[in-house]
Amino acid sequence: MEIMNFAIDGYKDVEAREYLGIFGNPIKHTLSPIIHNTISRRLCKDMRYIPFQITENLGDAVDMAYKDGVVGLNITVPYKQEVMEHLVDIDEAAKVIGAVNTLVHSNGGYKGYNTDMYGLAKSLMVEGVKLDGAKVIMLGAGGAARAVAYMCLKYGADRVYIVNRTFDKAKKIADDMNSAFSCDKIIPLDVKDYYVIPDGRYVMIQCTSIGLHEGDGLPLISDESFFEKAEIGVDLIYNPAKTAFLKLVEECGGKAINGLGMLLYQGVRAYELWNDVEVPEDIVKNVYNALCRVSYDNTDNVVLIGYMGCGKSTVGSFLSMVYGYDFIDTDKIIEKREGMSTSDIFSKKGEDYFRQLETELLKELKGKLKNTVIATGGGMPVKEENRPLLKELGKVFYLKASLDTTYQRVSGGTGRPLLDNLEGNTLYKKIKEMTAIRTPIYTEVADVIIDTNEISEYDVHKIIAANMSTYAEDI
Ligand code: NAP
Repeated sequence: MEIMNFAIDGYKDVEAREYLGIFGNPIKHTLSPIIHNTISRRLCKDMRYIPFQITENLGDAVDMAYKDGVVGLNITVPYKQEVMEHLVDIDEAAKVIGAVNTLVHSNGGYKGYNTDMYGLAKSLMVEGVKLDGAKVIMLGAGGAARAVAYMCLKYGADRVYIVNRTFDKAKKIADDMNSAFSCDKIIPLDVKDYYVIPDGRYVMIQCTSIGLHEGDGLPLISDESFFEKAEIGVDLIYNPAKTAFLKLVEECGGKAINGLGMLLYQGVRAYELWNDVEVPEDIVKNVYNALCRVSYDNTDNVVLIGYMGCGKSTVGSFLSMVYGYDFIDTDKIIEKREGMSTSDIFSKKGEDYFRQLETELLKELKGKLKNTVIATGGGMPVKEENRPLLKELGKVFYLKASLDTTYQRVSGGTGRPLLDNLEGNTLYKKIKEMTAIRTPIYTEVADVIIDTNEISEYDVHKIIAANMSTYAEDI
């Protein structure tokens, strides 16, 4: 599939019967793979979700994905508006909102939807918040606010004030939505006029990006008494879990809801559109738990060691897709930095040089990684100095394979400097010699040993997850 050229590291070699994905820039830290890969896994569907980094020519990328048969796509910043030019059809709600975040494969091209609006509405419903007849204050008038304003009118809000730094943007949303719903319920306000909002108890929805960063204070209005109007305070931001806005809402006796539910349900809705299924509640809960852990828990790193062909890369990509770990491969980092393959580094600069690069890399990574799977070169633990460095990096899993299994897996392969140009008996003998030396070392360094001979990559990842305390309950 041509579109796989745009897959981010860790996803390039993913193979499945069907594909989903997301286009954006930047895209590395998206949580969406956790949502969709968890649902597929629980529904036993051989369908994988891939983040694609699209830096230019969005239209070409959309065409390419369509030709490659990608079943569905999410679209995120900065393409939610631009993508509308490259679709065969657009759902009515998405047209009015003016943004599309979900593409569904249909006749002749993709059809666009906006599931952000649905995601927020559903998350409010689950929390018992009623919009019908409600009075709403929206803070912010950016892209997401358009979907929020649409949702308020669609679900029957009685009055909606949109307060924004740039008045014209609030006015534009108010004009567009009032006109679409033939009403005058939305009132735009410049932030300096916030005091004209009558006293009362409101659903206050925080749609600015203020609060995303540590040290961000309250959004738009510094008068704390203003936030006493919030019976319900909703922040579209989900990380941090509690923004200054949500903390204040709670202090004032209001109910605080962050944006993780919106993220969850916009994803669930997209999955349902792509597959024409209803995702059962227990699976939705499972996905929510996974999102919570990845967003709010400070979990350990997984370090994979083992001889060539033991499955470090495959298992690493699998863990990153299912549990949202970042995934790095030390050999690949070194190759990129040196501008040549591992085999070339060995032949041109020698094994000692390569081992020194490995040591330097381990020292550099120490303390810098969180929630990351690190696949290491097969020879890395052989150098004594590297052993404590590996253990400091995270929990060390030794993926063990028998001599025969290893021989089968590496036969005919290239790019393994110590085995290049060997075959048949010579290859078998070389593996035997090397594993005789390395097996006791791997065993010494490992916190957990997994025999990979008889089990699938899926079972290996389950064993690893079961050993990482925060993931154990999902196994
Ligand atoms: P956007 O289009 O860039 O709009 C940003 C909004 O924040 C605008 O109203 C902007 O005001 C305001 N703003 C930013 N910095 C400001 C400052 N220093 N002072 C005053 N106002 C400021 O962003 P967006 O796409 O609407 O997203 C907004 C937030 O929603 C983001 O934090 C995003 O992460 C979150 N979001 C969450 C979900 C979810 O699933 N939970 C989905 C979508 C978005 P001006 O108009 O005056 O520039």
